[in-house]
Amino acid sequence: MKALVKRGPGEGLEYTDVPVPVPGRHDVLVRVLRTGICGTDLHIFEGNPWAARTVTTPRVIGHEFVGEIVRTGAGVGGLVPGQLVGAEGHVTCGTCVNCRADRKHLCRAAQGLGVQRDGAFAEFVSLPAESVWVHRPGVSLDAAAIFDAFGNAVHVADAFALRGRTVLITGAGPIGAMAAAVARHRDAALIVVSDVSSFRLDLARRAGAHQVIEAGDEPIDTAALGLEHGFDTGFEMSGSPSALSGLIGAMAHGGRIAALGLPDREVPVDWSAISLRMLTIQGISGRKVFDTWHTMAGLYDEGLDPTFTVTHHFAAEDYEKAFATAAEGTAGKVILDWVPRD
Ligand SMILES: [Zn+2]
Ligand SMILES: [Zn+2]
Repeated sequence: MKALVKRGPGEGLEYTDVPVPVPGRHDVLVRVLRTGICGTDLHIFEGNPWAARTVTTPRVIGHEFVGEIVRTGAGVGGLVPGQLVGAEGHVTCGTCVNCRADRKHLCRAAQGLGVQRDGAFAEFVSLPAESVWVHRPGVSLDAAAIFDAFGNAVHVADAFALRGRTVLITGAGPIGAMAAAVARHRDAALIVVSDVSSFRLDLARRAGAHQVIEAGDEPIDTAALGLEHGFDTGFEMSGSPSALSGLIGAMAHGGRIAALGLPDREVPVDWSAISLRMLTIQGISGRKVFDTWHTMAGLYDEGLDPTFTVTHHFAAEDYEKAFATAAEGTAGKVILDWVPRD
């Protein structure tokens, strides 16, 4: 089968032939239809220090996908060929204290699909049956392909109650924009999004942000936004050190921050502001398995469609163009097609 493979250190990927994986007793084999390119994949393409440290090679990469079950292992119940599925990209150990307490999203031995085990940027992927999410009828293939990323946004947005609250979101990449859409759906009173890119701010507007701010050196002027006390809630989606300190500075006393963005270095933090304002900071990673997935399916049924972030499609063999496009500041979600579109 064709697959996108990271061979070793350095930049680039290979679009090459590898054997079709053989599913184990508790696994399913999925024929991949469409995949979403994630920031993680860009880091792996680039071969940055995180990727060099984390990705075991050679490795078929990719974790955002939708496909169709073609085969199930002998020990698999409840799943059948033909079902349209995605999967939780963190394959958990099943034996640690958090896995055994059904807090799988807190597993510290989780393996990333397309990072520490072969992923979905391929014609077929094999996964443990318990990682599989069966889509409800009616979901579009593009939406299903990016459910994993949508889940990051939902996990952030649902960290705290939003109805009637004011929300500041730093970072309007696809996940930040999706989080803005969820906040709007949750009836937040005011949603303000900041980013350095005007393209991304447009994405945030389309998501339903009430106001967008071009991020700069100036602190966010909460008074000018009509906020006497600052923001109730913050979503840190950028990984930018200056965005984080701006966010902390713009929070009301007792404000709560959900932090998903990953800085690539240590970040100095004004702890006195956190203490004196009694802020809560909740780190967010991945999705709750499978609570977040159920919530996403419900949101989708209610009309919240994450595909407003999709800007480009490429055939899998055009991966170089696709990755270059995704790496530019003027793309939202980029989809790779593993079977031709009708
Ligand atoms: Zn992702
Ligand atoms: Zn575990």
